[in-house]
Formats: sequence, structure tokens, C-alpha cells
Amino acid sequence: MSVRSILTKIIILPLSDFLLKRTISKHLSFLNKSQWWSKSELENFQNKRVKMLMEHSYKNVPYYTNLLNSLNLKPADFQKVEDLKKLPILTKEDIRTNFPDLISDKSREKGTFMRASSSGSTGEPLQYFLSKDAYSFNIAAGLRAWSWMGYKLGDKYIKISQNQRSSKEKKLQDKLMNNEYLFLKDIDDESLKDAIQIIANNNPKIIRCYPDPLEFLAEIILENNVKMNLKAIATTGNVLHKSAREKIEKAFSAKIYDGYSCEGSAPFFQCENHEFYHAAVEYAFSEFVDVVETESGVFQGRHIVTNLWNFTTPFIRYDSQDILEWEEKDCSCGRKLLNVRRIIGRDNDVLITPKGKRLIVHIFTIYFSKVEEVKQFQIVQNSENSIVINLIVKDSFNDETKANILNYWSEIIDDEAVKIDIVLKDEIKASASGKRRFIIKNF
Ligand SMILES: [Zn+2]
Repeated sequence: MSVRSILTKIIILPLSDFLLKRTISKHLSFLNKSQWWSKSELENFQNKRVKMLMEHSYKNVPYYTNLLNSLNLKPADFQKVEDLKKLPILTKEDIRTNFPDLISDKSREKGTFMRASSSGSTGEPLQYFLSKDAYSFNIAAGLRAWSWMGYKLGDKYIKISQNQRSSKEKKLQDKLMNNEYLFLKDIDDESLKDAIQIIANNNPKIIRCYPDPLEFLAEIILENNVKMNLKAIATTGNVLHKSAREKIEKAFSAKIYDGYSCEGSAPFFQCENHEFYHAAVEYAFSEFVDVVETESGVFQGRHIVTNLWNFTTPFIRYDSQDILEWEEKDCSCGRKLLNVRRIIGRDNDVLITPKGKRLIVHIFTIYFSKVEEVKQFQIVQNSENSIVINLIVKDSFNDETKANILNYWSEIIDDEAVKIDIVLKDEIKASASGKRRFIIKNF
């Protein structure tokens, strides 16, 4: 361990906790131990937090006082995570409509919370409040997961983002944690080349970024034969496709550790063995609804989240709308945290045909990665019966390719009522947040 790592662990992180009224250091020590707990130890811990959460919410959060009263329930009816099923699912719309009533009276008095919002990649962002303790626990869970990719506290890392760093608190945190924050205003060749120069000058161990900008950076690195020397790359934010992963890993000569989280949920990260994403189950309880078994022992379902730490705006059985795929199998790393195999994406990233066939984004990305003549695609569903395939194509694209694509998708969709059209485009725009959307539903 380097001197900087030791200093960060025993002095810098506790000091920054003190200055910023956070509790990261304490939670990190706990999480480093609990990652090796048995399944029953983890379950007991979750059950204990559920009891605390329900007692607190009934007493201090008007929305839950009213909800439990209307269902004739008392906090004592919630002794374990399974008891949460006694409550209805909480939607994004429920949170917006009932927002003032979802804030804890107790937290408001103390003023120990901060504003938070979801990234809004697939719609309007959701605003809510997060207790500083929950925020700290979540950061600590992220730091624990980073240790799986060889990161040690104090190691230099670069976070590449298209949001400007404006808060003084976050800037101070960057300095203390040895983070170079790289603000990528535009994604054009010039900005990308500047970014590559900054990365090379800083010589970081880790880069953290959304997959899409990384893929563009990777293309320039490969074209110009730039040598990169990183330990690992942490991605999160949107679904990482296989082709993007391969390109990025080749360009940066480093392995990608992908992560996933949504508002209220535990952070999920791939472990050193890369078999699964592990959830920090000590932070939030994950349950799944509309579950289908896609192959023996492999399941897909919609991710429902109960946050066990945010007592300021409790998220209890919150519908993330994300579909995850998991497997009932232990990971070779030995951790008994939840094992998720794949993040399928938001409901919006799934095309649903009138006959109820679900076409996940991977089906399209895999298919189009093999069609030489196509550079980029986007699927737009304008109504249940109308699908437009927008394509940016190479000069070699011809009528035969077009007919092949149409035939292929007609067979897959297998529904005479559905009209499929191909529209050639010069440009396919990213969403306002800069994320690329593969499937757009317009009805
Ligand atoms: Zn593992």
C-alpha cells in the first residue's frame, strides 16, 4: 500500500467526512467486512433495517402514516423483507404527486439531507432528498466495489462527464480523493483529442465514464495508436454493449468493470471475476416482479427497490422499470451478495410487439453489428403497429441489403399487422443528456 493510500484511509477520508458532515469512512470499514458475510447474516441485517425503516416512516413520513393506516397495518407487521410485499409498488408518478408528504418531518428539522435526482436518461429526471448518511453509505459501497478492480484509496482517477462540476463541496471532494474531473463539453474530434491528452498527462489508474463517450475516445485512440496504461475502467449510466466493451478494452488496454444503479437502489458492480454484478444488499433490498425463467436457473424480472438507508425520502418498493437478469448460482469470488448477470435496460429499451414479444436492445445491437453496410441504427416504434428502423449506412448499402434487413425483422417480429420501414439518415441524434438511445417508443 502506498503512503498516499494509507494517508487517505486513516487521515484524508475521515477528515473529509468531518468537514463535509459525512460518514463514508465508517461505512466503508463495515462494508469491507460485510461483503464476506453469509447469506443469512446479510438477510438478518436487511430485516433489521426494514424494521427501522418502517417504524421511522410510519412515525415521521405522512405518506406512509396514511398508507399504513389505510391498509390497516402497523410497523410491527414488518419484521422482514418479505413483509414489504404487504405494500403496493411505488411508482415515479406516485413520488411526484405525493412529494411533500414523502419527506420525513424528522429529517427536515435536522437539515442533514441533500438534493438528489435521477439522471433522467429515459424521461424527466426525478427530484428527491437523500440523507447525508445514505449518500455516504452509497459512496462507501462504490469504493468497496472499486477495490474489486484493484483501486486503493488515494489512487489517481479521472472522472469524465458532460456535466460541469459546480458544487464547491464536490470540487473539494475531488481534491481530497485525488480525482481529476474532466468536463467533456462537446463530443467532437477536437474535444476528444484534448481529453486524451489530459488522460495521458495525468496517468490515472482508473477512468470512470459513461460507455458512449468512452467508445468515441477509444475510436480515436485506436486510429492514432495512442498507448494507454490504466489499471481498470469503471462504466455506469447506460447499458454497455459487447461491441463497445471490446473496443474500449482494446484501446485503453484495461478491463472494464461495469456498474448499474438507479434512484434508491443499491449500486451494482462487477467483481474481479467478471461473472456477475454484485449488489450492495446492505444498502437496498432488490425484489423482482413479472419474472420469467429464460433458461434453466436464469431469470429476468423488473427491479423493485427498497432503500434501507434513506430515511429522508423513503423509497419503499419503488419501481425502477429496469429489467435485470440473474442466476441462482454462487459467484466464484465467494461473496453472497445478489448475483445479477445482465442489465437488460429500461422498459423503454425493450420493443414490445402487439403479440407481446419482447425484443431487448441486445437483439438489435448483435444483429446490426454483423451487417457490414450499416454504421448506426435506431429503432423507433411510432405506434404498436408501426416500426421505423433509422439507419446510417455505408456506400455499399443497396436494395438487397435493405430487403434482407426487412425480411429478417419481419420474421423475428412475426406479426402481419406490424409495418416495418427503413429510413436512411445522415445523423442519429443523442438525447439531451448525451446518451445514445437505441429504441424509442413514441406512443
Ligand atoms: Zn463475484
